[in-house]
Parts: sequence; C-alpha cells; structure tokens
Amino acid sequence: MITINKLEKSFNKNHVLKGVDLEVRGSGIFAILGPNGSGKTTIIKTILGMVIPDGGSIELDGKNIKGNWSYRNSIGYLPQIAHFPENLTVKEVIKMVKDIRGKRGDEQPLVERFGLQPFMSSRLRNLSGGTRQKVNIVLCFMFDSKYIILDEPTAGLDPVAMITLKELIHEEKKNGKTILLTTHIMELVEELADEIVFLLEGKIFFRGTLQDMQEMTGEAKLERSIARILLRNNHESKEVITVKA
Ligand code: ADP
Repeated sequence: MITINKLEKSFNKNHVLKGVDLEVRGSGIFAILGPNGSGKTTIIKTILGMVIPDGGSIELDGKNIKGNWSYRNSIGYLPQIAHFPENLTVKEVIKMVKDIRGKRGDEQPLVERFGLQPFMSSRLRNLSGGTRQKVNIVLCFMFDSKYIILDEPTAGLDPVAMITLKELIHEEKKNGKTILLTTHIMELVEELADEIVFLLEGKIFFRGTLQDMQEMTGEAKLERSIARILLRNNHESKEVITVKA
C-alpha cells in the first residue's frame, strides 16, 4: 500500500504539488494522468526518494519512507529517460544494475521475450531508441518487485514490443503487483488501467475508474473525457472530484 499525505513540492516559485493525498491499495494498474507539467513525474520521484518533498509524508506498507532507503528494494522503476554509460554493453549494464541493487534478478525470460538476444554484446550507444527502451523494461521487471513504477513505458517501442509490454503488465498485475503508470497514450490507459488518478494544478482532481470518468463527463473516449475536464475546469470552480476513494 502506498499512502501519500498532504504532499508539497515547489521548485523555486513553481508550486508543483499543493497538498496531494493519495492512497493506492492492493494489486492493480493505476494510471497517473494530467496535463504536461502537472507534477506526475514529480510525484513518482518523491515516491522513489529522488525528489525530497517540502511537506507531507509518503508511506509504503505503513512505513514512512523518510530516511529509510530499504523500501526501494521493493520497487522496480522505468524512468522516462534512463542514463547509463554509453560504452557499456547490454550484458554489462544488466550486471551493473544487479550489482548496485545487490539482487539476483532474472533477466533471461525478459531478454527472450523482447528479442534482445542479438543485442546482448552491443554497446548502448549503438542501440536504437526502441531497443534501449526494451533494455530499460528488462531492468525494471527483472527483480520481481512488488511495486512497479512506469514513467512513459512505451516510448519508442514498435507495435510488437508494445503488445509484449501490455501482456507483461497484465501478468504482473495478476501476480499481485501494484503498478503505477504515466503515459500520453490514452489507448494504453483504456486497455490497462484499473483506476485513473488525474492531477490538475498541483492536486488530485479526479480519482476513479475509466467508467466513472466516462459517466462523469458523458464521453465514451478517455481522450475526450480529459479534454472535457480541462475545458470545464477553465470555466468552473476547482473543487476536487473523488468518485472513488
Ligand atoms: P509532468 O510529469 O506532469 O509533465 P513534472 O513533474 O515533470 O510534470 O514537472 C512539474 C513541474 O515541475 C514542471 O513545471 C517542471 O518544469 C517542474 N520541475 C520538475 N522537476 C524540476 C526540477 N528538478 N527543477 C526545476 N523544476 C522542475
């Protein structure tokens, strides 16, 4: 369970998170959506301890994460942009991440699944964007982590890899994992998400299922639902809508 309480974060004068409250319980796929710059990545990074909040608290399984780094062992993370030394081969980067994390990890089934065998001895700098992303996916999923955090996971993927990733995410959910996902691909949210958390102006504006969102906005397509929320929000009050707590 992830419990976020009154989370605050500013970057200089930019007040990005204005008291975010969020509880994520049990297994499932939770899509964190919101316009560009609404703070999706900032929330993810505070959960990972990569951004230190100015106020509020984050608990993982009932334990405050502040000053207690061991909780990270239970998280697999796919960053929006991963930076590894460019001269390392795929094999070497996998070994490096295992060494850093001090965990065994089982990359082989994932390497096969994403067709990475021919690239194991290639240097990262020689890989296409999509192939790099497949390597990042392997690094994220190979430790069988209880929590999986995916920041724009489909970037650069071809349709076959996209389907493979969707199947993998579904399987991980069935295995009891809690998956947080940000993406610009609304079809991915429609296909995968059990719940949607919509950030707007530093707060959670909506929390509920796809169906809740469709009912609230009267729009069948998620893309249109979101457009409607954003348009309406320009004209009306900014109260938080929580369809499902
Ligand atoms: P999103 O993921 O929703 O697009 P982000 O969380 O990346 O949004 O960013 C939210 C806001 O915080 C943006 O205005 C961004 O420019 C700003 N921001 C994020 N990280 C930093 C940082 N390290 N330094 C300064 N500003 C930042």
